Amino acid sequence: MKFGGTSLANAARMKNAARIIQRYSPQNKIVVVASAIGETTDQLIEISELAKKGDLQRARKLLSKIQAFHLKIARSVASKGETRELVSRLEQLNSELGRTVEGIAHLRELTPRSRDYLLSFGERLSAPILAATASAVGLKTRALTGAEVGIATDDNFGEATPLMEISYHQVQERLDPLWTRRTIPVVTGFIAATIDGSITTLGRGGSDYTATLLAAALGADEIWIWTDVNGLMTADPRIVKDAKVLQSVSFGEALELSYFGAKMMHPRALQPAAQKRTPVRIKNSSKPTRDGTLVSVKESPNGGRVVKAVSIIRDVGIVTVGGTGMMGAPGVAAKVFQSFGSNNVNVMMISQGSSEATISCVVARKDVDRGVRALQLALLGQGQVDKILGEKDACIIAVVGSGMKGTPGVAARVFGAVAKGGVNVRMVAQGSSEYNISLVVSEKDGPRAVKAIHEEFQLGKTSS
Ligand code: ASP
Ligand code: MG
Repeated sequence: MKFGGTSLANAARMKNAARIIQRYSPQNKIVVVASAIGETTDQLIEISELAKKGDLQRARKLLSKIQAFHLKIARSVASKGETRELVSRLEQLNSELGRTVEGIAHLRELTPRSRDYLLSFGERLSAPILAATASAVGLKTRALTGAEVGIATDDNFGEATPLMEISYHQVQERLDPLWTRRTIPVVTGFIAATIDGSITTLGRGGSDYTATLLAAALGADEIWIWTDVNGLMTADPRIVKDAKVLQSVSFGEALELSYFGAKMMHPRALQPAAQKRTPVRIKNSSKPTRDGTLVSVKESPNGGRVVKAVSIIRDVGIVTVGGTGMMGAPGVAAKVFQSFGSNNVNVMMISQGSSEATISCVVARKDVDRGVRALQLALLGQGQVDKILGEKDACIIAVVGSGMKGTPGVAARVFGAVAKGGVNVRMVAQGSSEYNISLVVSEKDGPRAVKAIHEEFQLGKTSS
């Protein structure tokens, strides 16, 4: 069971999470994964930026807010007998956190490594609090960090990749003895460590990934992701009023949906679950008895509808490589992706017209400039590519559903709907899985395109 930040956002939510664990613990062996409380990670990022600028005053102010908030929750959730121990543990973490911020501020240097170290405090503070809360309702628990539980990663700080074989082995070895003592492990999400012990993070939203990794290591029957929504939806309900919860989606569909508005599941988190065919339930911690959305290997039809959901991915841009010398010249695409890759620019979507005169790639907006510079260095002046352009006003609209596979006319309906909505389409791609048709439109046109497609496929009438 993984609890997201909003499901732990204050003392009442914490207690609610503990009751959920309690409710399911007699019949199940549970491993709990805790995210940072509420917006703590965002606040730590803000602190890191302030410290880097040397604005120690504001950094300290925000810092003491975080520290006090955690202590306040701790005092109201822990049992009488355990409050002192919990508070002293948190105070120790708080002072380590304070020293870290001072250090960054004095050096005015924030490396990916020191940033991960700083961000790790969000989960390092929340896990012991959740463990104590659960213990106050009578459960035997033990708080552990990702490193303590044995998750090892490479040293790509900020977005580290777990070393699966070692991690699986270590996790089994370390968790088995706890269970024999009927103790529920409460593990920090999001954070792990390199082999030599430096703290790493798995990328924003990485607690999901921690949960699926632990589940894969332990051969879990199910993964439950407790969040603040009823499940995956046919569209972002802030854009589409009649968006509905999806009862079940396949891993293939979930992967396509993983960038789902603000409520996305960490995209890499699905890998271990899909590989081990472990079902994932996305459930609302405020309404724990509801089914939520089940992600599994089953391809289930959607009341006969070919499209299941339409999602929007914001904050992206387009990098376009063009040149008449590209036609019929092998190897240009290889160079494009190679230089993106070696500069850590993730490509989210690709399209190349059959004239071969341009290749367009959608990347995160923050990566556009870096991507353009990387390609300029790698490609210009070799006779094939003569222009490299970056555009920042874009969003991706992804239309998803396994029923689209082999069904003619879906693309026509998608583009017909978007056109009727008066939206100009700038780029298109369909994966050969046919699970997804993606189009790129201007940021301001995004919501209109989503509404038009949702309406066209009558997704608001999904039986759920
Ligand atoms: N606390 C981290 C974040 O906000 C990880 C997570 O919540 O999954 O990104
Ligand atoms: Mg979070």
